[in-house]
Amino acid sequence: MTLLVRAGLLFTGNREIEHGWVLSRDGMITEIGSGRPPPADDVIDEPNCVAMPGLVNAHDHMYQWATRGYVPDGTLFEWLRALYQVWARLDADSVRAAARAAMAHLLLSGCTLSTDHHYVFPHGRPGLFEALVETASELGLRFHPCRGSMSLGEAKGGLPPDSVVEEEEAILAHTEDMVARFHNPDPGSMCRVVVAPCSPFSVTPELMRDSAALARRHGVRLHTHLAETLDEERFCLEKFGRRPYELMEDLDWTGDDVWYAHGIHLNDGEIHRVAEVKTGIAHCPSSNMRLGAGACRVEDLIRAGARVGLGVDGAASNEDANLAMEAHQALLLARVRATSPRALDARGAWRLATVGGAECLGRDDCGTLEVGKCADIACFRVDGLAHAGIQDLVAALALAPPARAQTVIVNGRAAVRDARLLTADEDEIAREIKATSARLAG
Ligand SMILES: [Zn+2]
Repeated sequence: MTLLVRAGLLFTGNREIEHGWVLSRDGMITEIGSGRPPPADDVIDEPNCVAMPGLVNAHDHMYQWATRGYVPDGTLFEWLRALYQVWARLDADSVRAAARAAMAHLLLSGCTLSTDHHYVFPHGRPGLFEALVETASELGLRFHPCRGSMSLGEAKGGLPPDSVVEEEEAILAHTEDMVARFHNPDPGSMCRVVVAPCSPFSVTPELMRDSAALARRHGVRLHTHLAETLDEERFCLEKFGRRPYELMEDLDWTGDDVWYAHGIHLNDGEIHRVAEVKTGIAHCPSSNMRLGAGACRVEDLIRAGARVGLGVDGAASNEDANLAMEAHQALLLARVRATSPRALDARGAWRLATVGGAECLGRDDCGTLEVGKCADIACFRVDGLAHAGIQDLVAALALAPPARAQTVIVNGRAAVRDARLLTADEDEIAREIKATSARLAG
């Protein structure tokens, strides 16, 4: 089965081709060119669009779509303390409804590959991880679900209440089971499982060590939150006598198979060490601004040679899930932080939103449009009121991000056409999430 996508401008990540086209066969790109295209079984022609690599979401908590709008003015720790009580009511149905909403919104914003860091597994509620994997398959999203975890409850000096933490043995056994059932390491894979204890203030050092050993035994990646707030830094210094990144070094949580969410409060030496060991950083600008967490040193990380991607983070701290908007926010926030308009340009921002995220997720087959890579393509209209008349269309889409993508292709198949989701009913998903949010609010 071959698919041809033509666009007014094809932005491959490396090249910009006017009237360019991409030909794919069975989900992989076989040819790229301009002018007269070859024949194909299916043709999608978008003369008023920029086609670019599908966007990559390197950090998220999809269940949070059902708990948006809580603690609108709180710090991370205040916000978490309020939300843990609500999240304790999660079950497979609420996780599925939230994931359908989160994934629908991601696809509609041009995202084709996403991770999800799920770390709340209330006692006696089976099927949460399965619900996430099934939903990605239903909606047609390339997916890297993280089996997250929390084991350090209040009684042991952690932040979460004991009602939402799990026994460490059970966490490790379930993680191993999820890897065995769902992880596919092959090129072009639609599902890869990640091992992801939540944060230094919600798991023990022992679980961090055991999780790293488990992941490396199975050849899967590691993900966690790190250096998000100064409260976290104070917690680590008081409890462990170490800065958050020093703690990661102690626990064997560095290397090219690891990526952290946020990485805001890293000092100069830590930025160079992160870059040297090729650990990734998922920068989440909207969430960081919403929680007043600080601004990631993106330009310093890039200059040091670090791998940096973008994440929308959970929708409870970013009431949106639009990767194009995160590229826009990253560009602006980097300039505010540096008090310089040259800190990050549009093409640099798109790099973070595509190949940077793919590097975090360990995908050398995603993130750019090249022969031999996955046919994951996002097409954005540039003839509407928002963009018409702007000369540099690649800059236009970062400076004025589109609300929706026109066409989205994942694995050589259309998931979005005419800015409508093809794989599920968006209105039904909205009705479902309204009912689920009300049920969880109690
Ligand atoms: Zn997060």
